[in-house]
Amino acid sequence: MFVPLSENDYMETLRDFDLVLFGGTGDLAMRKLLPAMYRRHAAGQFPATARILGVARGERSRESYIAEVEKSCREHAQAVFDASQWQGFAQMLHYAAVDVSRPESFGALAAFLQGREEVARIFFLSMAPSLFAGACDAIGAAGLATPESRVVLEKPLGQDRASAEKINQHVAAWFGESQIFRIDHYLGKEAVQNLLALRFGNALFEPLWRRGRIRHVQITVAETLGMEGRGPFYDQTGALRDMVQNHLLQLLCIIAMEPPTSSDPDAMRDEKLKVLRALRPIAGADVLAKTVRGQYKAGAVGGQPVRGYLEEEGVPPGSTTETFVALKAEIDTWRWAGVPFYLRTGKRLQEKLSEIVMTFEDVPHRIFQTTVGQHPNRLTILLSPRDAITLTVQAKSPGETMLLKPVNLSLDLVESFKVRQLDAYERLLTDIIKGNLTLFMRRDELDAAWRWIDPIREGWQAHDRAPRQYTAGSWGPSAATSLISRDGFDWNGEG
Ligand code: NAP
Repeated sequence: MFVPLSENDYMETLRDFDLVLFGGTGDLAMRKLLPAMYRRHAAGQFPATARILGVARGERSRESYIAEVEKSCREHAQAVFDASQWQGFAQMLHYAAVDVSRPESFGALAAFLQGREEVARIFFLSMAPSLFAGACDAIGAAGLATPESRVVLEKPLGQDRASAEKINQHVAAWFGESQIFRIDHYLGKEAVQNLLALRFGNALFEPLWRRGRIRHVQITVAETLGMEGRGPFYDQTGALRDMVQNHLLQLLCIIAMEPPTSSDPDAMRDEKLKVLRALRPIAGADVLAKTVRGQYKAGAVGGQPVRGYLEEEGVPPGSTTETFVALKAEIDTWRWAGVPFYLRTGKRLQEKLSEIVMTFEDVPHRIFQTTVGQHPNRLTILLSPRDAITLTVQAKSPGETMLLKPVNLSLDLVESFKVRQLDAYERLLTDIIKGNLTLFMRRDELDAAWRWIDPIREGWQAHDRAPRQYTAGSWGPSAATSLISRDGFDWNGEG
């Protein structure tokens, strides 16, 4: 059944656009991007003249492309799929066979776009990053980059600072920085938007959001999935580049940045950049003390036996690619000096979970008897499997004695607002059409992130050659527990 959205801000009709979806037959396009576009269409946000052109090398008719997209939308738009809405969306869909590495194949694309120079023209590059530079050169050389154009780049943008810079140079030859949308879909998540609302829409938290009040911060992005056929890609990338360089660092920036002076995209991106530049470098032998990298071996996830990373299809024998990273980051600013930020992410972990946990300082003096141990206040921002924000406080448990127990003050975002929340890609795609850059990474941010990440990888190569093994279905190598327990803390849920 179609579930309407009632929030007025969602319902604004967008300007006319042509979306050229390079990689329009790929996994990301079919599972995420096209279902997200369908949902926005069903919410009434698109003008009747807007068009989507799927692009890939394979020859197929428009009809067969529409049939493929319908199958995918039925599966992935789930409760929102509605047959009558679908007819309107199908009319928006077109297909062209283009090989981005053969500029001579761009004729069909040019013919499709001709005469619509005034509408927002979006080139979404949903394909391997090794094709980004060539694709931008071919778009530019064919004269298709108009002043109203935007180019969208999926992660991972490069393998290191040098390769990212090379891609950025090619893109910048044809598009201005205000036309470039570098996606980190974590920033599109509703819970991340709510974190911004919590921080900058309330006076309550700001005095507490600093050293002296916050003891430590943890960011966890845990997956239960393994390679799912992506072994050859993943083996070239690893968890540090695939997850830490983008998603985890962006979440850290949102927590740690100073209040921006306005909601202007550059005001926020300036503040995130300052955080990235203030991260204390982890280099050389420091990697042994401040980072842990792991690789899963065979085990069981959700009661089902699963194979180890080295047995996954397409993974070369003896690979030392990490499928898990835990690290201790420090931010050298007045606000955060002495407050550790512990980051961890991995594949084939016990639970699918993305959360940020901020633990406050304990009371300076106890006058009440508590149950067991210490229970400092905690603010938990849950991003997955659902969006929720919880503040854990001490309350008196009913009865005669003054016995304190931790209880949760919870903001369940779905329950509170009773409307379907936007999926991250729905939010990001509408922002791209509007030309709003707030939730996208700027070139200098990306550069600063790589500048911090590269020495960690180099340190591993020089001092820590093999990743530590962990059993699939666990919370990672025991060294990750030691990394945090050395400082007197536990990972949330493991204490
Ligand atoms: P994919 O399933 O391998 O799809 C690649 C797409 O690119 C296909 O449509 C392919 O069609 C097309 N293509 C390949 N070479 C081409 C060429 N020379 N010219 C034109 N089209 C070409 O990849 P994906 O998983 O969708 O990933 C796309 C991008 O998103 C990658 O950068 C990936 O890292 C990123 N990403 C993916 C996910 C995900 O969940 N899948 C998540 C985050 C980020 P033909 O072979 O017919 O040309």
